[in-house]
Amino acid sequence: MESLLNRLVEKNRELTHKGNVATYIPMLGRANPRELGICVLDIGDNKYVAGDYKQKFTIQSISKIISLMIALSDNGEEKVFNKVGMEPTGDPFNSIIKLETVYPSKPLNPMINAGAIVISSMIKGKDSNEKFHRLLEFIREISGNNSLNVDNEVYLSEKKTGDRNRAMAYFMKSQGVIEGDVEEVLDIYFKQCSIKVDCEDIANIGLFLANEGMLNKSNKQIISPHIARIIKTFMVTCGMYDESGEFAIKVGIPAKSGVGGGILASVPYRMGIGIYGPSLNKKGNSIGGYGLIKDLSTELDLSIF
Ligand code: GLU
Repeated sequence: MESLLNRLVEKNRELTHKGNVATYIPMLGRANPRELGICVLDIGDNKYVAGDYKQKFTIQSISKIISLMIALSDNGEEKVFNKVGMEPTGDPFNSIIKLETVYPSKPLNPMINAGAIVISSMIKGKDSNEKFHRLLEFIREISGNNSLNVDNEVYLSEKKTGDRNRAMAYFMKSQGVIEGDVEEVLDIYFKQCSIKVDCEDIANIGLFLANEGMLNKSNKQIISPHIARIIKTFMVTCGMYDESGEFAIKVGIPAKSGVGGGILASVPYRMGIGIYGPSLNKKGNSIGGYGLIKDLSTELDLSIF
């Protein structure tokens, strides 16, 4: 397995020349675009790694599935989907356009920024500090890594330059979709996006979802299998931005990407996969990571379809 992973990493590293690292959050621009790494964890507790799998990066949009798990556990399905829809948009992740043109004004799904910001507002806690801490404790538990924390430089960089997210959030507040203090909600969102992880951390989360919300090592059930299923379904329909349809056809694995270069993938009942490659394609997905998981899916016949 590791020789297969090594071969596929080196093959797909070539693709990294064709993409670019994200720079709209200035601190993300520091990443080395040539890096590509992978960690695969299977339900038999085997771990396989290759390439730059040890590199740390910020989780970014992958955090949207984390906050959604908590919001669903806290509020129940009905309340959550009253505020945020379930449909893919076909628009970029940071698009604002449908907020005004779709009635009633609610974000189309929890994987675009607008939807994710609403979801962050639905995490329970007495203040934004407590809410974020619950999220941090939760991700530490499901990744099996107690030392996960925020990359403060990326967080401050996002907070300073996040005007587009701020615009959406204030608009949604004016429509009654967001309740409470907008800056506090944004603070949770910027912090959750800035949590620093590596390939093994996100592979563990993928494995946890593959196991229907149960930790592989301890057999502890953390979220209901039903919520785990909702998350994996969103990963299929909207996890790879407006490239999710193509990804479903070419790869066929529930996955969520982030502009930091991460891809978290979950092969039901089989494995969790974590990939890092900060050179992104035009849709915002890791260009080498996409190639790598596509090849892996073909070689190991991982498509769920
Ligand atoms: N923090 C990023 C933003 O809101 C996350 C985007 C992403 O990874 O897609 O712009």
